[in-house]
Amino acid sequence: MHIRKAYKFRLQPTAEQTARLAVLCGHARFVWNQGLRYCLEKLDSGEKIPSAFELNKLVTQWKKQDDLAWLKEAYTDNLQQKLKDLHSAWMRCFDRSLSAEKPRFKKKGKNQDSIRFVNFNKYCQLEGNRVKLPSKLGWVKFCKSQGVQGTIKNCTVSFKSGHWYISFQVEQEIAEPKHSSTSAVGVDVGIAKFVTLSDGSHLKPLNAFGKHEKRLAIEQRKLSKKVKFSANWQKQKAKTQKLHTRIANCRKDYLHKSSFEISKNHAMIAIEDLRVSNMSKSAKGDAEQHGKNVKAKSGLNKSILDQGWYEFRRQLEYKQLWNGGLVVAVPAQYTSQTCPCCGHVSKENRQTQAQFECVECGYTNNADIVGALNILERGHRLLACGESALAA
Ligand SMILES: [Zn+2]
Repeated sequence: MHIRKAYKFRLQPTAEQTARLAVLCGHARFVWNQGLRYCLEKLDSGEKIPSAFELNKLVTQWKKQDDLAWLKEAYTDNLQQKLKDLHSAWMRCFDRSLSAEKPRFKKKGKNQDSIRFVNFNKYCQLEGNRVKLPSKLGWVKFCKSQGVQGTIKNCTVSFKSGHWYISFQVEQEIAEPKHSSTSAVGVDVGIAKFVTLSDGSHLKPLNAFGKHEKRLAIEQRKLSKKVKFSANWQKQKAKTQKLHTRIANCRKDYLHKSSFEISKNHAMIAIEDLRVSNMSKSAKGDAEQHGKNVKAKSGLNKSILDQGWYEFRRQLEYKQLWNGGLVVAVPAQYTSQTCPCCGHVSKENRQTQAQFECVECGYTNNADIVGALNILERGHRLLACGESALAA
């Protein structure tokens, strides 16, 4: 089995190399913005987003333009990769299962500069703690904190918070793993408890944003009172940005720990096939008809996005792949209203948010655990039917 992995290190370019990297990033940024403008014009005139191939051809076209002659001096692979990224960003934006935003124009010095070097074997070279890069960069040193294993496919150089980094994307051949556990578990995701497992255990909610929300609101209010683009405004802007980053890091860390635990302990994980972006959209759609529900619903949606369920599922899937287990996504209908004991489906089974009591057979349990048990049951059924159950 092939796995893809990335190794990231701090780059130690000389002053000359730093200048060259900045120039190359500038070229890439320009091409991204130029490509984005082209796409937006297409959209405005009612056309579709250009294909990756069409975008790719633009580079050649631009290089022929007199006013863009300086692009001849750029490294073409970097530019084409940028347009490829732009195309992927549009695809993510139009994918209804993702809640990705529209690609935006890139500004200088916004921690978003990066360039990718492809065909590593042909144009680059790794030797000890230095890497040879094309386009007049030559041998660049980096802090090698660990060995790089596997075949390097490409590498990305990026600039963040005053430092340059290099990330090597490798492909590694590993033996087909076999999961060390044989147990299966159903996972119910919710607001009050982030995750309830069918074995009765649960993980507390994350609410990273909720916890820091007050702080962020205070800092943002301060920001709004400052004169835009003044020195004080810049300072305050950096402060709120830092808070945003901290929240994102907390969330990522929490999701990684939770998905690691579950993946380690269970060979089969059944989850509900939740479409996060559909849920988010439905609140907007309902706005005109059911004014009252909107607030509650958008609150729920905010919480769904805040909890990072989509990311959680993605992590479970790839961790199971690595561990030799699998993830089964089951239809989400009535998981909270079905009796795990007799199978009776009724709204009445769920008298309160927390408690489940079957009106048919009298079975009682915590409502979230019932949900998880039903999800597990459906996962087993899906697998037994031999349907393609591996979540895509
Ligand atoms: Zn029952």
